[in-house]
Amino acid sequence: MRVIENLKHIRSNIEDACKRSGRSPEEVTIIAVTKYVSVERAQEAVDAGILHLGENRDEGLLNKWDHLGDKPTWHYIGSMQTRKVKNVIDKIHYLHSLDRLSLAKEVDKRANHKVKCFVQVNVSGEESKHGMEPETVLDFIKELQQFEHIQVEGLMTMAPYTDDEAELRRCFRKLRTLQQEVQQLHLDYAPCRELSMGMSNDYQIAIEEGATIVRIGTALVGEESEV
Ligand SMILES: *Cc1c(COP(=O)(O)O)cnc(C)c1O
Repeated sequence: MRVIENLKHIRSNIEDACKRSGRSPEEVTIIAVTKYVSVERAQEAVDAGILHLGENRDEGLLNKWDHLGDKPTWHYIGSMQTRKVKNVIDKIHYLHSLDRLSLAKEVDKRANHKVKCFVQVNVSGEESKHGMEPETVLDFIKELQQFEHIQVEGLMTMAPYTDDEAELRRCFRKLRTLQQEVQQLHLDYAPCRELSMGMSNDYQIAIEEGATIVRIGTALVGEESEV
């Protein structure tokens, strides 16, 4: 399927989810996750009108960046190794995987601009998932005050891979509750307006539960493999 057709379908699903939850589709930003696909396919996504691209490895990001430059807005969505920060930090606009102080320190040291970050939270408690324990998030965010190049735009999570709708909702709601707690701290470097949650299989539920950014790979650009 062409990206433009997938996009049309996804936009219509987003509209429906917004209608069901009394929201406006303008509140929801789509990131096309291009980690599985070629530069050409990423270009096709940009041509289809997608403004935001997401990658989860430094090689993938740099390869796509070489071809597409900073025309799209770049989101780094994968877990970030501290030693890789310097390779990508000036290419990305958003980092979705801030999950430890050592990473914050390195980002702050290497960045020449304020980096818009999401604190990644492991709401589901699954061993395999990256992200911070929910209980540690507030203290962590308070500690980020010392870093002038870090701005906490929001929270990010990956829900478990399941069809159990109730479990997905529980997970997304928990992130939203946590967001409200962060907002109540009234920290100028942590407005925390965004919720980055929802992927190909659960973005409609995520939107019903308040997602402002959905990260969609398979359903949007497919997963033709280049590896
Ligand atoms: C791969 C990935 C996505 C997209 O996954 P799909 O199921 O293909 O939509 C979203 N977020 C993160 C963090 C990912 O690693």
